[in-house]
This record gives sequence, structure tokens and C-alpha cells, in this order.
Amino acid sequence: MSPFPREAYRPLVRYSPDRRPVDVDLSDNTSRWGPHPDVLETIRQAAPEDLVLYPPVYADRLREAVARRFGVSVDAVATGCGSDDLLDSAFRAVCEPGEAVRYLPPTFSMIEIFARMNALEAEPVEQAAPVAELVAEAGGGEALIDAMVEGAPGLVYLCRPNNPTGEVQPAGWVHALADACEARGIVLLVDEAYADYLPPDTPDLLERAAGSSRIVVLRTLSKAWGMAGLRVGIAVGAPEVILEIEKSRGPYKVNRLAEAGAVAGLEDASDWVPGVTAAAREGREALAVELRERGLDPLPSGGNFVLLPLPGGATTDGVTAGLRERGVAVRPFGGLELPGHRAPTDCIRISVGPPAEMNRFLTALDEVLG
Ligand SMILES: *Cc1c(COP(=O)(O)O)cnc(C)c1O
Repeated sequence: MSPFPREAYRPLVRYSPDRRPVDVDLSDNTSRWGPHPDVLETIRQAAPEDLVLYPPVYADRLREAVARRFGVSVDAVATGCGSDDLLDSAFRAVCEPGEAVRYLPPTFSMIEIFARMNALEAEPVEQAAPVAELVAEAGGGEALIDAMVEGAPGLVYLCRPNNPTGEVQPAGWVHALADACEARGIVLLVDEAYADYLPPDTPDLLERAAGSSRIVVLRTLSKAWGMAGLRVGIAVGAPEVILEIEKSRGPYKVNRLAEAGAVAGLEDASDWVPGVTAAAREGREALAVELRERGLDPLPSGGNFVLLPLPGGATTDGVTAGLRERGVAVRPFGGLELPGHRAPTDCIRISVGPPAEMNRFLTALDEVLG
């Protein structure tokens, strides 16, 4: 008999972010602007059978709404219980046990965990500087792509904008990475959880993915749409990969209320989402200005959050605890190895909210940093 618990699971712990209640929670990048009103209204009107009956097996009404919204065919769309579910399903669907998942650290913390959960090898690829800087050097962008695809990993993951750094890799470089993956038959997962926060007309990978052979883009309704509690994720990409992801994901993963709410949200053509995302961009830039005025050096970000390397003498644990005592939660990132930084750096990640919340955060930060 093999040992229990299984070998690969021994280092795993249950995911345990600090969830003690706090006045202003800027720790998990959920929306500080509330839920999409059409989604809320739809769920309020739930019928008794929405609880009694199973949902459609593969959330086909939702797949159709996604296809209409993004102008892609239904067979290019999969959905899941959050995009986490789609990441997990994609890892399992695409890779044989023992194969490598390549990614650029620091990135979404769940990648290493899902790799381990699916008996895969998490293989971080060292990134010497932000991609835009590498691309500006002769051959720097190509060298990074080569390192990500060499030896044929099972899967390549890229987060754009990247959590937690906020980096938005140049579109040209991402397309070159996609070319390299497609040429070698490697599946490329582009996590665009924060793409809603990019300025309108910023190129993303979604359109290309639907017509590709190996590219899948992940979106979520957990951030800009204010629906993290409903757990709805979206994958758009190569139909042959999408089919495998659906097999791996299995039936009934999006519940009836979540599906109905998500459909209502996606069908809304008003400027509600553009409005909240524009407010988040403005708030983010205003926050960065405030931080720089204090002599701090936040990283440029394309998301609804800012990563702040702490000044000398301040530690992630100390600052996070001090902020919490003052009613503000942020996400701690201790000893982060950032592209282009020589030494590990203590950081905090701050989700962007409306001005009153940012003022509360800044007041608390000033007290904590003295
Ligand atoms: C928040 C986030 C998600 C969203 O996960 P859901 O399961 O859809 O809530 C996905 N990827 C990244 C990088 C995130 O930060």
C-alpha cells in the first residue's frame, strides 16, 4: 500500500488567507464598488426551482452569453466555479503527471498549488527585469521565451496584468510567446483576471485565443464585476483545448443562481463595468502619486491593486499588522523576489477602492511607517 497522505500532498496546507473581519478589506482585489446591479437583481428574483433543479450540465446559457459578448463561437468557451476551477481543470486536462508548468514568478500563488495538486512540477522561469525592459535589450525578450518553452513543458502560464506585481507585458512579446507555444504544440494559459482594468482598446489575447490551436485565455467575474461570492470563471480559447478542459472540469460546476446572474451581467451593454474600472484606474494612479509623495516606490500596475515594496526597516509582517490594528487589511508579500531587484523585498499589495478607503489606508500607513 502506498503511504498516506500521498507524498505530493504532504507540503500542501489548506489555503488560509487572513479572513478576520476588518473595516476596509483591501487584501483580495475583489471589487470595492459593489456587485453588478443586474446580477444582484436577477438573483433576488430567483424561482424555487432554481434551488430544486440541477443547473445545465455545462452552463450552456452562460457559454452562449460569453460567446455573444466576446464575439467568439460557443465551442471556444468553457466556464467553471471561478477561474481557479478552470486553471485546475486545465492543468489536469493538458498535462501528464510529472510534466512541468512554467511561469514567471512572482505570479498568482495558486499556480504552484494547482501544479502540486495535479502531480505536476511547478517550474518558475527567472525573469531578470520587467518584460518591457528585456524587450528593449537586443534578444532579451526572445531569450525569456526560449527559457519558457525549452524542453517542451506540459503547459505555460502567464498572468497579464500580473498578480501581484501589476506588470502588463507588452502585447507584441505575448504574441511572440504564443507563436512559440503554438509552433511546439504547448498549451499557453493567459490569465486575464484583471484585463477588465486595462484602458479600453489595450490589446489582449482573447480574440486570437478563440481561433488558435493552443491558446486559452481566462477571465473572471470575481473582480471588476463584483461577483467573487458567486464563483464564475470563463475560459476562451482553442476549441480542441476547451473540450479537454470541459471533460476534466466535469458537470454542474456553475450553479443555477450564479449562471443566471452571470448571464444578466454579460448581457448588460451599459457602462457600469467600464465605469467602475475607470474609477479603479483613477484611484490606482492617485494612490501611486500619494505613495511617491511619501518617498515610496510602488510598482506600475495594470490591475485594481498596487504592489508596494516597503522602505528599509519596515517589514511586511509589521506593516500588515499595524494596518490591521487600524482597521485596514492588505495582502502581505514578505521577501518577494521581484524582477530587476537584487535582494528579496518585503512588500504589501493594496487593492484599490473609492477615495475614502484610500484616504483611510494612507492615514493608517502614515501612522505605521511613522
Ligand atoms: C483573483 C484572481 C483570479 C480569480 O479567481 P476566481 O477563481 O475566478 O475567483 C484568477 N487569477 C488571478 C491571477 C487572480 O488574481
